[in-house]
Amino acid sequence: MNFILPFLPLIKRIMLPLHIINQNKGTLKTEDILEIKRRLATQQRIAIVIHYNPDGDAIGSALALKMFFQQKGHQADILSPNNFPTYLSWMPQSETIYIATQQFDTCQKIIELADMIFCLDFNAFNRIGVLENLLTDTKKFKVLIDHHIDPMPYFDISYSNSEQTSSTCELVYRFIADKMQEPEAINKAIAECLYVGIITDTGSLSYSCNHPSTYSVVSALVAQQIDCEQIHRLVYDTFSESRIRLLGYCLSNRLHIREEYATSFIFLTQKDLNTFHYQQGDTEGIVNYGLSIKTIRFTAFFTERDDRIRISFRSKGNFDVNRFARQHFNGGGHKNASGGNSYDDMVTTIAKFEALLKRYQQELLTPWD
Ligand code: 5GP
Ligand code: MN
Repeated sequence: MNFILPFLPLIKRIMLPLHIINQNKGTLKTEDILEIKRRLATQQRIAIVIHYNPDGDAIGSALALKMFFQQKGHQADILSPNNFPTYLSWMPQSETIYIATQQFDTCQKIIELADMIFCLDFNAFNRIGVLENLLTDTKKFKVLIDHHIDPMPYFDISYSNSEQTSSTCELVYRFIADKMQEPEAINKAIAECLYVGIITDTGSLSYSCNHPSTYSVVSALVAQQIDCEQIHRLVYDTFSESRIRLLGYCLSNRLHIREEYATSFIFLTQKDLNTFHYQQGDTEGIVNYGLSIKTIRFTAFFTERDDRIRISFRSKGNFDVNRFARQHFNGGGHKNASGGNSYDDMVTTIAKFEALLKRYQQELLTPWD
């Protein structure tokens, strides 16, 4: 046995994918539901953790779950690794979210005091920035609710479903209404939060929503008298002048087309961002324009950050950008929407990307409609 010990980390690495496949069953087992109900039968301190650069789905699902737990008499606090975009600051209770980059000690205390930790909209601790070590080090009971593929195996309970599911918000609805059997807990404020996550993760119900269940949930949310038109305005019609000009600049000066690979890409340097007075969230959505060209099937959006190049990938059809981001750019996500990072400079990063296109040319040019 002793001779195996030095190789244990390697063996674990090799075994991990098998473990992951077994975990990703997509449903919450009856015994898991009972275990959560048993814990929630007494007053709990609950920490809700979301991913770095939280989007509408992360913030919406966390606020909805927090309000549900509050209704049931629990103490629930949301910890975000960094700040969230201002277009979400109108959301009910968003002012109560703790931002780890600004309030790290408070976040640490909340984790220390927590009875349970709910992890929302991410599948691995390397997605939670400065909160990573806090969650890796604690043995507190952790529940995952998420829609990314391949959740890591270190959660005590995983409600993870990447198929037939639009968003974590949809799963939080199912968690409250079906699993906890509390549909009447879904009030207007909770419905607003869940609706935000569904529309922001589906491009206002235009992708990742080709399943009746998403619309059943939307129907239940609209039944709570939420004002969908107003929510849409609050989320989308919030551009500053410089943000809309940055978009114009991307489209006229920085959009590159590689017809021979059915691919486009946009890149922005730090200098560009400074010129347009970049605020967090200003580049959100820009990646989608590269894909809105009829002949383009794969697009990438590169932005220069302090320590790395941040990349967003999007695709149409069966070109798998989750695999692409994982294999080549230290990232991941979903089949048609993923993100990654490069620690080379912009020129080297784009050169690497273009070289890879050659390798995928056949796949990129295979008809898929
Ligand atoms: P975005 O391009 O909007 O930042 O990310 C698209 C999708 O990919 C999101 O669902 C996000 O959660 C996921 N994603 C983005 N970056 C990463 C990453 O570095 N690693 C993993 N595993 N997923 C990512
Ligand atoms: Mn999501």
